[in-house]
Amino acid sequence: MPSPIQPTRPQTAAEAVASLSKEEVLRYSRHLIMPEVGMDGQLKLKQAKVLLVGSGGLGAPLALYLAAAGVGRLGLVDFDRVDFTNLQRQVLFGTSDVGLPKLTAAKRRLTDLNPEIQIDTYETQLTSENALEILRPYDIVVDGTDNFPTRYLVNDASVLLGKPNVYGSIFRFEGQLSVFGLADGPCYRCLYPEPPPPGLVPSCAEGGVLGVLPGIVGSLQAMEVLKLILGSGNSMAGRLLLFDALAMSFRELKLRKNRECPLCGENRTIHQLIDYYQFCGVRGEEAPPPAVEVPEMTPVELRDRKSSGEKIFLVDVREPHEYQICNLDGYLIPLGDLPRRVQEIDASGTVVVHCRSGVRSAQAVDFLRKAGFSRVWNLKGGILAWSDEVDPSVPKY
Ligand code: ZN
Repeated sequence: MPSPIQPTRPQTAAEAVASLSKEEVLRYSRHLIMPEVGMDGQLKLKQAKVLLVGSGGLGAPLALYLAAAGVGRLGLVDFDRVDFTNLQRQVLFGTSDVGLPKLTAAKRRLTDLNPEIQIDTYETQLTSENALEILRPYDIVVDGTDNFPTRYLVNDASVLLGKPNVYGSIFRFEGQLSVFGLADGPCYRCLYPEPPPPGLVPSCAEGGVLGVLPGIVGSLQAMEVLKLILGSGNSMAGRLLLFDALAMSFRELKLRKNRECPLCGENRTIHQLIDYYQFCGVRGEEAPPPAVEVPEMTPVELRDRKSSGEKIFLVDVREPHEYQICNLDGYLIPLGDLPRRVQEIDASGTVVVHCRSGVRSAQAVDFLRKAGFSRVWNLKGGILAWSDEVDPSVPKY
C-alpha cells in the first residue's frame, strides 16, 4: 500500500482525494494524532460530502467547524443577504458583509479558513421542485432551517433519498438535537406528525434568541456530522436532546420509529415531495400574518397632523422592554393589557395606535373600533416606518 503522504510524482485527482498533502497533514495534525481519527478518519472526512440547509444561526458554526475539520465537500443552501441583525449570533459574517448575499460572504470566509475543500453554493430557496436534485450528491444533510415548511421538506427529501438528516432547532433559551433518517431510526415526522398551527410557534425574529444558543446547538450538530462520517461513538439517532440554556441542563428522550409514519412507517403514503407551505398552513416564508383591515395613517401624515396642532393621543401597544429600546413618547399599553386598560385612552381627540411594524397595532385598532372608538387609526408600518420616513434617529430593532 502506498504511503498516504504526498508522493513525489504529480498526483491524479483520485490519488489526491485518497491522500493528504504535506500542508494538509500539518493542518489536520491535531486530528491525525488522535487514534480515533488518524489518517483513515481524516481521509474519510476529506471524501465526505455534507449539505447545510440554511447559513444562519445554526449554519454559521456548522459551516465553520466542518470546513475547519476538513470535510472535503460542503454544500450551502441559502438565499438571504447578510442583515445587521444577523451579526449578534451568525458568527460566519462580519460587519463588512452586511448587504452581501450570505453565500458570497460565507464562501469567502470558509475559503480563507480552509482552501483545501470544495464549497458548493446554492443561492436559492430549497423547494419541492429542487430539493431532491440539490440533496442527491451529498452523504449527509444538515437541517439548519428556521421554519416548519423547510424542516418538513428537508426531512422528507432526506428519507426519500435514504440520507441521514442531522437536525437542530433553537428558540430563545432552548435547543433540540437529533439525527433522523437512518434506515432503522425515526424521522422528524415520527416525532412531529403534524406541524404546529401557523403562528403558534414564533420565529427567532419574533421571539428572539440568545446569541450563544445557536452556537451551542450548531456545534452539537457539527459534532454529530463528524461522528457519522468517522463512524464512531453513539449517534443521536433514536434520541432527542433537549437543551435548556437557562438551567444549563441537557435532557434526553428516547425516540422510536413510528410504525404509522406516512413517510418511513410500514404503510407509507408519502412517496414524493408535497406542497409544504400548504401542509404547514402558511402561504410562503415571507407571507405576513392575515392582516386586519383597519384605517391607517402614514408616519408623514401623523407628523403633519401633530404639527398642525391636532389633538392626538398616541398609544404604543408594544411591551415595556421594547419601549426601552426606542419610543415615540406614546402612552404604553401592551396589547395583552388593552382590554382591561381601555378606559385610560383619551378619546376626546384623534387616537393613533402603533407598535413595531404595524401588525399588533392593527389588532389593537380593530379591538378599539369594536369597543366603540370611532376616531382611531393604525400607524402604518409602525415605529420602523417612522424611523424610515420621519425620524432616522429612532433606532430600528
Ligand atoms: Zn418517520
